[in-house]
Amino acid sequence: MFGHETLSDLGSEWREFAACSGRQDDLFFPVNEAEVSLVRAAKAVCQACPVQEECLSYAIETGQMDGVWGGMTSRERRVLRRKRVVRIRRAS
Ligand code: SF4
Repeated sequence: MFGHETLSDLGSEWREFAACSGRQDDLFFPVNEAEVSLVRAAKAVCQACPVQEECLSYAIETGQMDGVWGGMTSRERRVLRRKRVVRIRRAS
């Protein structure tokens, strides 16, 4: 299995432009996100990806729990998600 473009249940147009296309899956979905070198390498690919913003939004909106999406680990996305919830609650 390769990068995010092959997850057939998530078909979205932005995937066609994914810089992770053809990359090894264990780079973006490491067994252990504490594998700093793998996560760092995945994030480097994301930094040059033309659809990073779309990818991150998608991961957050669909609650992707694993892997690096949009340059963020699952833990980083959880923190971001929590901040957004707090911001929305404060605004309402
Ligand atoms: S931002 Fe990263 S994970 Fe998302 S499509 Fe681009 S390279 Fe893949």
